Amino acid sequence: MIYLDHAATTPLLPEVLSAMHQAEKHFFANASALHTPGHIAKNQIEECRALLAKLINAEPEEIIFTSGASESNNTVIRTFEGHQIETSDLEHHSVFEAANAYRGKASPRLYSYMLVNNEIGEILDLPDKKDGYLHSDLTQALGKIPVDIKKLNLDYATFSAHKIGGPIGVGALYVKKNAPFKPLIIGGNQEGKRRGGTYNTIGIIGFKAALEYIDKHKTWQIYDKKIRNLRDILAKRILQEISGSSLNTNLKKGKSLPNILNVSFKAAEGESIQLYLDAEGIIVSTGSACASGDITPSHVLMAKTGDAEIAHSSIRFSFGLDNNIEDIDKVMTVLPKIIDRLQKISTINL
Ligand code: PMP
Repeated sequence: MIYLDHAATTPLLPEVLSAMHQAEKHFFANASALHTPGHIAKNQIEECRALLAKLINAEPEEIIFTSGASESNNTVIRTFEGHQIETSDLEHHSVFEAANAYRGKASPRLYSYMLVNNEIGEILDLPDKKDGYLHSDLTQALGKIPVDIKKLNLDYATFSAHKIGGPIGVGALYVKKNAPFKPLIIGGNQEGKRRGGTYNTIGIIGFKAALEYIDKHKTWQIYDKKIRNLRDILAKRILQEISGSSLNTNLKKGKSLPNILNVSFKAAEGESIQLYLDAEGIIVSTGSACASGDITPSHVLMAKTGDAEIAHSSIRFSFGLDNNIEDIDKVMTVLPKIIDRLQKISTINL
């Protein structure tokens, strides 16, 4: 299998798998308990908190563990219920739908702007928050590009373990000291009463192992060289070898994440391309996996292009550290034939 859907979720790093396996044996106790096994488990959680804080230039007390990026996003936005909430056009559903649900007229205003988009990889300019507060969904940014909370001037930031080689179901929320905060899940003293629920110790230990990998290997440097190079080779070959192809990702350095390539193929439907590639063992996605089963075109591609045909004919290739040049060769052995076949049966003229 050639896996090119890392923006949807990443395979567990071997280091993560082994850390979680060990954790099942040694750190199973309830981390809130006063007994010794509870303390030992809690120490692991605090190590993860300290490491994430170090990586993003925050303080450990400013990190709250959650069940993932969707919960982190919902928590921040619900905090501003009844307030003005401004977002970019490219936000994940967990931001824009929460903003639509909770938006009101009071000030101060919350600005929620993702730093990088998950469908086309675009790196956005964060707005001037003036006298409001600034949240950024950094789910796709962590480990791929350097992230410094203070340089970005953020009050809140969202992270998820399963986009960096960690497990699904664990995430974190950065909340700047003294920034407004309202817990989404109440009914427990965990996380300083900021997020109730028994600690997901094994998951957090997996998150820690993934963060250790990022820290040790400075993965943003690998993405910037090796992965950018692979992505750019694939983009160039697609444009040269497949008629009707156009890029939805701006390849210029600083304009997009190095590991995402979103491409449209005129007169070929994204879902059909995805299924034909799947039959060849090549795993990609159309737009955002969170929206699959949904026949409306991707809101991100609509915002960027205003063209439903482009949105419906798009494929996202998202690379991980395990991909190599042979993967590109394999894709380019089968993709031109698939597109040609689909274009021939299409009623749309090329
Ligand atoms: N935000 C962004 C930018 C994402 O890419 C995703 C995952 N598709 C999420 C939020 C949701 O993450 P989680 O699965 O951890 O809830």
